[in-house]
Amino acid sequence: MKLRILGCDGGIGRGLRTTSMLVDDDVLIDAGSGVGDLTLDEMANIRHIFLTHSHLDHVAFLPLLVDSIFERIEQPIVIHGLPATIQALREHVFNWAIWPDFAKLPVVNKPVMKYQEHPAGDICEVGGRRFESIPMNHIVPTVGYRVESAAGMSFAFTGDTTTNDTFWEAVNAYPRLDLLLLEVAFSNEYEDLSNSARHYCSKTVAADLAKLKLDPQIYLTHHKPEENSRILEELEQLVPDRVIKQLKNNKSFSL
Ligand SMILES: [Zn+2]
Ligand SMILES: [Zn+2]
Repeated sequence: MKLRILGCDGGIGRGLRTTSMLVDDDVLIDAGSGVGDLTLDEMANIRHIFLTHSHLDHVAFLPLLVDSIFERIEQPIVIHGLPATIQALREHVFNWAIWPDFAKLPVVNKPVMKYQEHPAGDICEVGGRRFESIPMNHIVPTVGYRVESAAGMSFAFTGDTTTNDTFWEAVNAYPRLDLLLLEVAFSNEYEDLSNSARHYCSKTVAADLAKLKLDPQIYLTHHKPEENSRILEELEQLVPDRVIKQLKNNKSFSL
């Protein structure tokens, strides 16, 4: 299983991209502005998109993606998400006012995309890979994902969240985790803001990392612009027993 990071920033600006990652050639997790770096051929290969939640930094390029490739698509791209996430897309994005309803276009019986709702905790198999959604603690209904390859290697992605037990229990339920992609939006200076927006800051993520019983590679994602070096410095102090690195756009993993 290949994993390519398209976007891992908590904002935009030159060189910055919001959350999206490509699993092998055919599955996206989230569709933030990182999607814009894919070629048309790469976009046309995408068959499934698993969304963590409805926030704009995770779905912003979904409308533009389907519009860019609708002529090339034989079968609808399947948009997977919580019922609340799908409902938000229907009501607030693909509502003809913000963007046309591509679940009915170019023609109703052969649309470019279709929705598949999953309750949190669902496991969805796609081409031998297993996508398990995990309920998280964010300001809107949100899931993280644990993804396992046919060969038994795995990564987990928190999506957006603050302190929780659900994610850590879900990943600890398996004997193996190779890679952990962990959101930390803010340094401790913004602890109050991180709590009210229900994101991790350094202090809260350090406390939750104590719940992890496995030893994956750990990479941080979703930091606000200019916060990454401060978060890393704080975590070096708070979690000295783990090696924690900053995720970078266009980084690839083989799992
Ligand atoms: Zn969010
Ligand atoms: Zn976000």
